[in-house]
Amino acid sequence: MHRFTYRRSASAMEAVRAIAGAGPGTRFLAGGTTLYDLMKLNVETPSSIIDINSLAELNAFDTSGSSELVFGALARMSDVAADPRLGRDYPALSESLWKAASQQLRNMASLGGNLLQRTRCAYFRGGEPFACNKRKPGSGCAAQKGINRGHALLGGSDACIAVYPGDLAVALVAFDAKIDVLGPNGQRTIALEDLHREPGGTPHIETVLEPSDLIVRIRVPVTPLGRASTYHKIRDRESYAFALASAAVALQMSGGTVLDARIAIGGVATRPWRASQAERILIGRPLTSETARSAAETALHGARAGPDNGFRIELAVRTVVDALMIAKQRA
Ligand SMILES: Cc1cc2nc3c(=O)[nH]c(=O)nc-3n(C[C@H](O)[C@H](O)[C@H](O)COP(=O)(O)OP(=O)(O)OC[C@H]3O[C@@H](n4cnc5c(N)ncnc54)[C@H](O)[C@@H]3O)c2cc1C
Repeated sequence: MHRFTYRRSASAMEAVRAIAGAGPGTRFLAGGTTLYDLMKLNVETPSSIIDINSLAELNAFDTSGSSELVFGALARMSDVAADPRLGRDYPALSESLWKAASQQLRNMASLGGNLLQRTRCAYFRGGEPFACNKRKPGSGCAAQKGINRGHALLGGSDACIAVYPGDLAVALVAFDAKIDVLGPNGQRTIALEDLHREPGGTPHIETVLEPSDLIVRIRVPVTPLGRASTYHKIRDRESYAFALASAAVALQMSGGTVLDARIAIGGVATRPWRASQAERILIGRPLTSETARSAAETALHGARAGPDNGFRIELAVRTVVDALMIAKQRA
C-alpha cells in the first residue's frame, strides 16, 4: 500500500492551488477509472489526491448554443452520449462516447479524465521488469522488440510506440475543439489538436499541460459538418474494447461533391491524429470509392510498422474509407 493524502476541493481555483502547493506527486481525481486502475498496478503512485467531483461548475454541459457546444470537464460520458441533440447533429461525437468502455465505466468516467487517459501499452501497464520510457524515463522501450500488434504506426519514436487509446479526443480533433484550462496564473485556451504530444525523446511528457492545470471545459464550434459525421471504430470484439483503428469523419456536400471534410484517425497513432492532407484531397471532388481510398491512403502516409502490426495499415485505410461512406449517406 502506497500511502497518499486525500482532500476535496470546494472551487476550481482552490483545487489548482492545492495541487500546485502539494507538489509533483499530486493528481486530480475525477471518475477514477484511469487513476485508480493505474494505482492498483503501481504505475501511478501519487502522494496526494485532490478530488474535484464536488465542483458543480465543471459538471454541466450545453449543446443548445448557436456558436459552440460546451461540455464541463466533469460531465459524465454516459450523460453526454445520450444527449439527443448531440446524437442528431454531431453523431461522430456521440458515437465516440457510446463506443468507448462499458456502460458502468461511462457512468463514472468524465470527459476531462477521458482526454487524459493513459496508454494501454502492456509494457507500460505491466510494470517491472519491462522497460518503459513513459513509466521510467531512460529505461528503454520493451515494445520495440516485443509484441507490437497493438502499437503505433504513426507518430512513434525510438523511445516509445505506445498508442493514444482514447476515442473522444479523436472525434473532438476532427471538429476543431478547444479546452479551457485553469492554472495558478489564470485561465487559457488550448486547441485540442495541440494538447497531446508525440513522444519524441520524452514519452513521459504526454500533454502540453502543467501538473497543476485543471481542464475546466471542452468547447466545440458549431459547424454545418456535424450531421454528416461518424466515428467508426474497429476492434477485436464488437463491444468493450479499444480501437485497432478508428476514424472520425465529417462532411459537407453539395450534390455528390465534397465542399468540406474533416478526417481524424485513432487507435494507430501516439496521439489523436488529424489527417488534414487527406481532407484536402476530397474537397471539390466527388466522393467515390476511388477518391475515398486515395484520401485514406494519404491519411496513413508515413505509417511505420513493426513485425506484428503491419496489417493495421490496410485496416486503418479501410476504416477511413468506410467512415467516409457512412458519413456520405448522412449528408
Ligand atoms: C476497462 C476499461 C475500458 C476502457 N475502454 C475505453 C475505450 O474503449 N475508449 C476510451 O476512450 N476509453 C476507454 N476507457 C478509458 C475511460 O474512458 C477513462 O478511464 C475515463 O474516461 C477517465 O475518466 P475519469 O473521470 O475516470 O478519469 P480519472 O481516472 O479520474 O482521471 C484520469 C486522469 O486525468 C486527470 N484528470 C481528470 N480530470 C481532470 C481535469 N478536469 N483536469 C485535469 N486533469 C484531470 C487525473 O488526474 C488522472 O491523471 C476504458 C477504461 C477502462 C478501465
